[in-house]
Amino acid sequence: MKTYRCDVCGCTNVKLWRDYESAPRLLCFKHTMEKEHSAGDDGQSHSPNDDSIHWSVAAVPTNFAECMTEPIQALWGYTSVPPDAAAWWQALA
Ligand SMILES: [Zn+2]
Repeated sequence: MKTYRCDVCGCTNVKLWRDYESAPRLLCFKHTMEKEHSAGDDGQSHSPNDDSIHWSVAAVPTNFAECMTEPIQALWGYTSVPPDAAAWWQALA
């Protein structure tokens, strides 16, 4: 896997989400919202503080401390993100 950046626009140092079901495609808030709108509206409004957006969930690397410069090793499962990794993700823009 590559470093922690949006697959569409390449932006870094922001929160990214991934599809809950399929192989990880990491997307920033804007592109997650575009993707989820094309999949159908879930009838809720979302902000970048939401760790789940419709079918997408927070993408939290296991090696989060170095994922901006080193390839991502793996992503935590949505229900198994440790507190320090969750705090790292929430601190992103
Ligand atoms: Zn993007």
